[in-house]
Amino acid sequence: MEQIENNIEQQNNIITFKGITFYVIEHLDSLNINETINYHAVLINGKDELFIRQIVKRIRSHKNPNIYLKPVFLLKGVNIIDPLINQLIDGTLFSLDQIPFIKKEVEKILTKNEEIQFTRQISFEAQMIVKIITYMYSREMSTLTPIPYYNSDVNYTYPPLSVNFGHTEEYAIFSIFEQAEYDGIFTSEFVDRIYLCSQCSNGRMSYREVCPKCNSSNSKTDDIIHHFPCGYVGPMNDFTNEIDDELDCPKCNKRLRHIGVDYDKPSVIHECLNCSHRFQDYFVKAKCLSCHHDNSVEQLKSKVIRKYKLTQKGIYAAVNGFVTTSKDIEEIVGTVKYDTFKTMLKYEIERLKQTEGSSNICAIHINNPNEIYSVIGSEAQKGMLKDLVRIIRSNIRSADVITFQNSSTIVLSMYEIPKKSATRILAEIIVILERLLKTAFKGVEIQFEINVVQLDYKISHELHLHNLTKDFT
Ligand SMILES: [Zn+2]
Ligand SMILES: [Zn+2]
Ligand SMILES: [Zn+2]
Repeated sequence: MEQIENNIEQQNNIITFKGITFYVIEHLDSLNINETINYHAVLINGKDELFIRQIVKRIRSHKNPNIYLKPVFLLKGVNIIDPLINQLIDGTLFSLDQIPFIKKEVEKILTKNEEIQFTRQISFEAQMIVKIITYMYSREMSTLTPIPYYNSDVNYTYPPLSVNFGHTEEYAIFSIFEQAEYDGIFTSEFVDRIYLCSQCSNGRMSYREVCPKCNSSNSKTDDIIHHFPCGYVGPMNDFTNEIDDELDCPKCNKRLRHIGVDYDKPSVIHECLNCSHRFQDYFVKAKCLSCHHDNSVEQLKSKVIRKYKLTQKGIYAAVNGFVTTSKDIEEIVGTVKYDTFKTMLKYEIERLKQTEGSSNICAIHINNPNEIYSVIGSEAQKGMLKDLVRIIRSNIRSADVITFQNSSTIVLSMYEIPKKSATRILAEIIVILERLLKTAFKGVEIQFEINVVQLDYKISHELHLHNLTKDFT
């Protein structure tokens, strides 16, 4: 234990000051972000912007609120210009003896975090909405303002949301904001308009003027000359000669004197050096730097960039939990609410106290939901969940029920059958699911994990559910 200053103690990478613990991160390679969960705040000790951005992203994009809402400070007080980092840290320190100055800020954030009740969400969109609104609540931000950002594939970043998306997936933020606004979480205001590739929704493009005939950008431009005395109009090239740099009219052979007096240049003409086509107006094309598709500008997808203000309903949802978007519920028929499932499970366990029977609960977990949901988009995601439920439904008895524990874990009951039978039915369901998803979502590999737990009347329904899903990744 090393004493740095009054009340500040350091042991390895843990610093303690008046009951507040700080986890100091110095190297990317030695870092297991999950370790930060046991400490009140994080100090990032480094000068390299890339390193700092990586750490900040890993913390803020974590799925566990105890990590993504953690107070984070930069230790070296370096001048960071990356707006993503600046928006996602809580302050900077120049040295460890300044820790007393941030104690209040840390406590403020921790108090706010304690007010928040966390529930599970059934869809990826709902999870993302929760991440934004809880972060805003925790940091007392009333408005989420988009920032023009060179590292963004959609040209603007909303740090608390955008940090969750990798390169090429960022356009997913638009449907999340649209849904949240539709559900009354935000009100919005116009900020700007952007244009995205019609094929891959990327916003980084190279704009060029091209030949309307062959699309080549290899062209030269010439002035058009109007000779007043004879009325001839033609490109400058027609007026030049090989001897000197004077201009002579090809029609009346007079030498041109003064622009504005005997001739003028009313416009320009372009000549394609690829196909020799002459034209007055270019086409404008936008080549996508991501998929290389050459979009004509009329094809580009236009999106409005808005700033979002948290409503009272949004604040309520941040504090009390937000499980589903309106769309999620509407679209997944054949399921019951997780709470309802828990109640039914409790009764089944009670019933087993009096009878000899065997009952089970089963879980199907999708291993890589973010990967899938970001690839297939929210519409297909709902479709996929519906398909999953439909298939499961048609393979179990009507008395059994299905619920979502979250958007990647489906829990169902298989009461009054031996565990062996439940396991066999579940295995059969997985085979069908895998076959269906393989054809429906080509190129996206979906990995399932499954588990069956036989009900034991000596343990609680909560422990059953815990045991059922605790080993899933
Ligand atoms: Zn051409
Ligand atoms: Zn002339
Ligand atoms: Zn593209």
